[in-house]
Amino acid sequence: MTARILVVDDIEANVRLLEARLMAEYFQVLTASNGRDALEICANGQCDIVLLDVMMPEMDGFEVCKRLKADPKTMHIPVVMVTALDQSEDRVQGLNAGADDFLTKPVNDLALITRVKSLVRLKMLTDELRLRATTGQEISVQEVMSASILRQNAVKPKVLVVDDKPSSYERIVKYLAVENSVALVSDPKEALLRAADEDFDAAVISMSLTDMDGLRLCSQLKSLEKTRMLPLVVVSELEQEEKVIRALDMGVNDYIRRPIDRNEMLARVRTQVQRKRYNVQLRDSVQQTIEMAVTDSLTGLNNRRYLDTHLAEMMTKAKSRDKPLSIVMCDIDHFKKVNDTHGHDVGDEVIREFARRIKKNIRNIDLACRYGGEEFVIVMPDTDMTLARVVAERIRNEVSMHPFIVEEGAKQLAVTVSLGVSSRQAETDTGDILVKRADNALYEAKRAGRNTVMFQAAA
Ligand code: GH3
Ligand code: MG
Ligand code: MG
Repeated sequence: MTARILVVDDIEANVRLLEARLMAEYFQVLTASNGRDALEICANGQCDIVLLDVMMPEMDGFEVCKRLKADPKTMHIPVVMVTALDQSEDRVQGLNAGADDFLTKPVNDLALITRVKSLVRLKMLTDELRLRATTGQEISVQEVMSASILRQNAVKPKVLVVDDKPSSYERIVKYLAVENSVALVSDPKEALLRAADEDFDAAVISMSLTDMDGLRLCSQLKSLEKTRMLPLVVVSELEQEEKVIRALDMGVNDYIRRPIDRNEMLARVRTQVQRKRYNVQLRDSVQQTIEMAVTDSLTGLNNRRYLDTHLAEMMTKAKSRDKPLSIVMCDIDHFKKVNDTHGHDVGDEVIREFARRIKKNIRNIDLACRYGGEEFVIVMPDTDMTLARVVAERIRNEVSMHPFIVEEGAKQLAVTVSLGVSSRQAETDTGDILVKRADNALYEAKRAGRNTVMFQAAA
């Protein structure tokens, strides 16, 4: 695992120190000595994580962080604030600016590397999702994402607290209840069950449980399919540093040290909730993008892209089982006239209705696609030429015999279609060749006067 880490500090010596430590772990290191340069490097997509000094002239670290988190281009880049002193106020301000984590100068080596690594892991995942989500649909996905994050944020986060000491959990619950709905559980086994059953946004787990090692619970939560994505925050004693590092190594997302600072706890949980919701949203938009990419929005049929990838598969299957396969290509006759006479919306209605009639006349295993404007392709497995021509005739009839009712019954239009049919005949026939032959046959049907079915055999 490697990553590009941007170190931002106005003091050269601090930059060199962090650089050396990170390079020793084979991270690629970029450096900047002021906020403006840092913003530019991030906007150009040159880094995966930012280590940001708080105290800088001109633009301080908080401001840089705020700007990074406000820009859709950079909001997904994890930011680690490097504070001079262990000042709770700085941390809270940093978290409110959107910082993902903290390091205190002088920076502890092990903490530095562990934190960076756990953020790199998160960033890799987020990048992967973003990449898939944005392919071909950049703007709309961004819009969908931010709109939905806002909607989700209107729902109070659900936080699971696992702790069995009243003196400790009373305080934690009181703090968190300010902006979360909190479920308190003392028994780790029950915690596991509830985490799997309910949709929590984050879990806060004490590392000082009486009956069980808190880390064991974390490891179970991180290995269960249902709870793997649940952000975990552990509450540690001051002297539990080694344990905290092991927790982070196993995928625990953050930690809070006792004595607990109310604002710090709220801010850290808030960050985790947001991160989780961002990831859930990405996952949903990936799903949506995948569906959008293969579906025609006007008719709900599959689109040409889908046909291109699936036709080859269907051909291979037919060949290997020595089964017939036929293709019908259909095109509405004089469709331009429909648009010109009745308007584009009526044209759309006709296309939609035609798609419905196609769908009604084919089997589930047949694949109907919108190939272009008013042109459709139907792939029919296990169907020979004779049967394919029967189906094509049926569709032609279904269209010409019953007028299309549009504008909510205000108009009835007489519509006809022309169809071209081709079938798998030669061993050398490919999907493309069949489509080409069906297209030629369609052209012949148009030439023959339209409202006709034609077939083209292999040469
Ligand atoms: P032919 O009988 O030779 O097929 O004539 P035609 O008018 O149907 O064919 P042509 O290809 O000349 O025109 C097709 C028209 O379909 C042109 C285009 O504006 C229109 N069209 C393409 N996509 C859509 C769409 O999604 N909605 C609507 N309403 N019209 C579309
Ligand atoms: Mg046409
Ligand atoms: Mg056309």
